[in-house]
Amino acid sequence: MTELRKDPLIGRWIITGTRNKEEFFQFIKNPDQEWGECPFCSGHEEVTPQEIFAVRKPKSKPNASGWDVRVVPNIRGVFNIEGEVGRRGKGLYDLMNNVGAHEIIIETPKHIKNIGNLSPEQIKKVVSTYQKRIKDLQGDIRFKYALVFKNQFKESKFYINHAHSHLVAMPLTPKIIKDELKNCHAYYAYKQRCLICDILEQEMKSGERIVDESDAFLSFVPFHSHLPFETWIVPKKHNADFTKEDENITLALARSLKTTLSKLAKLLDDPRINYAIHTIPFLRAREGYWKTINEDYHWHLEIYPHLMGLTGFELGTGSYIQPLLPEVCAKLLRETPI
Ligand SMILES: [Zn+2]
Ligand SMILES: [Zn+2]
Ligand SMILES: [Zn+2]
Repeated sequence: MTELRKDPLIGRWIITGTRNKEEFFQFIKNPDQEWGECPFCSGHEEVTPQEIFAVRKPKSKPNASGWDVRVVPNIRGVFNIEGEVGRRGKGLYDLMNNVGAHEIIIETPKHIKNIGNLSPEQIKKVVSTYQKRIKDLQGDIRFKYALVFKNQFKESKFYINHAHSHLVAMPLTPKIIKDELKNCHAYYAYKQRCLICDILEQEMKSGERIVDESDAFLSFVPFHSHLPFETWIVPKKHNADFTKEDENITLALARSLKTTLSKLAKLLDDPRINYAIHTIPFLRAREGYWKTINEDYHWHLEIYPHLMGLTGFELGTGSYIQPLLPEVCAKLLRETPI
């Protein structure tokens, strides 16, 4: 039985019970299972569950070829789309059912591993699909937050080497988002300015942590980056809600993402990359609670290269030892040609 359980000390939610014990011990004994034929290539539509959404060429039929971007449910997803949230307590503990959506966004019909190797126009279609799916899931009142994220691995027979990302809609707002919202809110309450707008201004002025800059986006290694070469892509024009960006901005985001990911791939020999989009939650649980959220929060995309494992220090403190100064990482990336 899968459940969401809240850690009463830290305040984050854990998804537990996703495997039975036989599956678990099988998994730790043999975590790597080879993928045969790629299930995401055009022409293999029957291998995946029925599509939820697709960007299609005129007259092409659902679940057949003729698509540019395709969204399907994740067959290995940990959330159940059916059922009620069932928030409840057990003594002092809080828990709820693992109700949620887990979708896979297949980013190209061609067998290409890295999103950074797609054209800006194709990446724009992917970004617009992220927006459409988040907006659609917002209509489901059981959900509080939708997170877009990517796990891009090095080429391996154990992974699907075909560009795709994940979208998870959950009945909770993740702790990291709540913390960002809280700090942005406190900054706004004190200064009547957006914290991330002020960070952008300072970063543009100093320039020492910039990776790439366009009219619409700044790509930079944050002053506080917790991983080597962690890079954020942030819109220059204030906006709390990623889904409200127009076509010009989504195309500009596609270009920034392509440039930044291409630099990371080139400099670091195509490392494992994760990224996530941090945008506002679905604002309905406590109507009026986040009165200034549209002024004080600012959506952004965080890229996490996966170069080192976690040690007892990171696990024990929640803090990170980041061996390279962010200014050094930024300079190396800035000077990497693409
Ligand atoms: Zn493929
Ligand atoms: Zn802002
Ligand atoms: Zn963030």
